[in-house]
Amino acid sequence: MSIQEQYRSRAKELLGEGSVKMVIGYGVGTTATRRRPIFITSPDETDRLVLDASCRTNLAGYLLREGLLADQKSIAVFLLPDGVRALNILAAESQLATAQIVVLGFEIKGEEVKPLEGTAAGDFSAIIAERKEQRKAQPSHEMAVKLEEMTPAERFAFWEKEFSRCIKCYACRAACPMCWCRRCVVDNNQPQWVNTSSHTLGNLEWNLVRAFHLAGRCVECGNCSEACPVNIPLHLLNGRMTDEVLTAFDHYPGADEQQEPVLASFRKDDPETFIL
Ligand code: SF4
Ligand code: SF4
Repeated sequence: MSIQEQYRSRAKELLGEGSVKMVIGYGVGTTATRRRPIFITSPDETDRLVLDASCRTNLAGYLLREGLLADQKSIAVFLLPDGVRALNILAAESQLATAQIVVLGFEIKGEEVKPLEGTAAGDFSAIIAERKEQRKAQPSHEMAVKLEEMTPAERFAFWEKEFSRCIKCYACRAACPMCWCRRCVVDNNQPQWVNTSSHTLGNLEWNLVRAFHLAGRCVECGNCSEACPVNIPLHLLNGRMTDEVLTAFDHYPGADEQQEPVLASFRKDDPETFIL
């Protein structure tokens, strides 16, 4: 039985026995390699589920939509390890209870999709710990290495040029599982903190404000870069923040659901004198 068949059958079983009210998974998209999220509520619909190497979107953010979890019923969701990390962060930030979530975990290696053992977020701690060590060993993107080799002035020029193409569509925000605020600071116009028009200063403000809000929270799923209509490599900036908090605080975002937020916690033995 293929992995797709295994997971369809698992989804059918969960819905059939009534242990979940919905399965959030992947369905066919507009092209052969695009997948779109689908929301299955009946065992008869599980044949629509697709699982292959194109299923890379982090689906964790859909769990927060429109009071979906308000009735305390469980939902099953297809998640890569980065998706489980997002789930842990959402739980740590009191946005959901992982007890309500059944994880249908999988990983992608090259073009191969492999099943992951477990159904609760905590069952995936070993693979997340492994990812942390890999991340410490090397940045995952070739472009990230090139950016590191630039001088600060060259790097600033690189990002200024990239952000100059931003059209302020906020698709990156909508696609990001960690951008869960009902009202974003950039939508506030009394006072208006960030200029909403698309020009150099406003674009820089928007993208840097967003990057700061994701420091220690970005799980590097790539949803933002995928959603950006002008192909700004946002994951490189947010991934750089991940490296920063990993080096400075040994903090790997979403390691577990008890993890304290890196920018809202402190240790008494912190070497910075301003702490005490
Ligand atoms: S900032 Fe981008 S890469 Fe990071 S969690 Fe959000 S969507 Fe994923
Ligand atoms: S998705 Fe891209 S163009 Fe749209 S607001 Fe985000 S960075 Fe700008």
